[in-house]
Amino acid sequence: MTALAASLAARIAATGPISLADYMAECLLHPDHGYYSTRDPFGKQGDFTTAPEISQMFGELAGLCLAGAWLDQGRPADIVLAEPGPGRGTLMADILRATRGVPGFHAALRVHLVETSPVLRARQKEALQGHDVAWHDSLHDLPEAPLFLVANEFFDALPIRQFQRDPQGWRERVIGLADDMLSFGLTAPAPHTTLEHRLADTAPGEIVEVCPAAGPLASAIAGRIARHGGAAVIVDYGGWHSRGDTFQALSQHGHTDPLAAPGQADLTAHVDFEALALAARAEGAAVSDLTPQGVWLERLGITERARTLARGMTGAALEAHVAAHRRLTHPEEMGTLFKALAIYPTTAPVPPGFA
Ligand code: SAH
Repeated sequence: MTALAASLAARIAATGPISLADYMAECLLHPDHGYYSTRDPFGKQGDFTTAPEISQMFGELAGLCLAGAWLDQGRPADIVLAEPGPGRGTLMADILRATRGVPGFHAALRVHLVETSPVLRARQKEALQGHDVAWHDSLHDLPEAPLFLVANEFFDALPIRQFQRDPQGWRERVIGLADDMLSFGLTAPAPHTTLEHRLADTAPGEIVEVCPAAGPLASAIAGRIARHGGAAVIVDYGGWHSRGDTFQALSQHGHTDPLAAPGQADLTAHVDFEALALAARAEGAAVSDLTPQGVWLERLGITERARTLARGMTGAALEAHVAAHRRLTHPEEMGTLFKALAIYPTTAPVPPGFA
């Protein structure tokens, strides 16, 4: 049993079952044993890979999208260029490199990263050498200023709760103990006013997921954009609505039992983009159509960019480059599963690549 498993078991024995959200938060963010707190999980040697780690094209096009929105909004000064959950810092480094040629953009911005992991903060510092970067523990700490933000695979790491519909209300899926081992269980059914709108589109036995942190974070982003201008691009896997059980654990590029080794596997859930959009609109910001990642990248010109980059390549490098283009855009790979959503001021045009 890992140290974290033992401490969770002791806590559950003393005070009862915990929600999936509590479990995810402990497993991902525990200061000594949390998954992100203690490692760099990316790449072939790691547990999973992400779009910016697959190809520089992802960050380059995200950069052009944000810089395009900045130009469309009249080139505001003193802007915040922000990224929550920047991983290795690759995406932000590619954004900065791709936008060097946009006159005035770099002079107008300061980079703000939101990251809880000390290990990953160190990686980000290396990747962004030569840039003036401020780090924050929470998105709520970003300054009040025009906000240009990108978030890739950040919202999927936020803790979720699961509720199973029952003829008598909703039963929360919790983690308790069976024979001293962590095991899933269900609470007694109870009515939940916040889930009443889901009675229309679920049947008894079905699971819905709720991410308590997502709405307030989307509000923090959208409020700044509505008040000061800016644009946010949120990319993640998920859909318009939470539907069914999407809680999953990844280790060494494969699925594993999420309860088997707490703190040793990445835990995620699909993102409910409707919840982000509702929170953003309530702050007075506009929200784009939810756009498949492949469509968004095609509209930003990924195929042209891929051809340009391919000119200097041969052999294995060229093969890897072609595979990366396909992986980012093809419907059977990340092209459709991953979606992009933009938040922008109601007075500004929709950011490039969105409708
Ligand atoms: N965006 C990167 C990394 C995605 S992994 C990429 O695309 O490669 C998730 C990132 O979010 C990691 O950097 C992790 O440490 C960070 N993270 C997870 N939960 C967080 C939280 N609650 N607050 C801030 N950062 C968090």
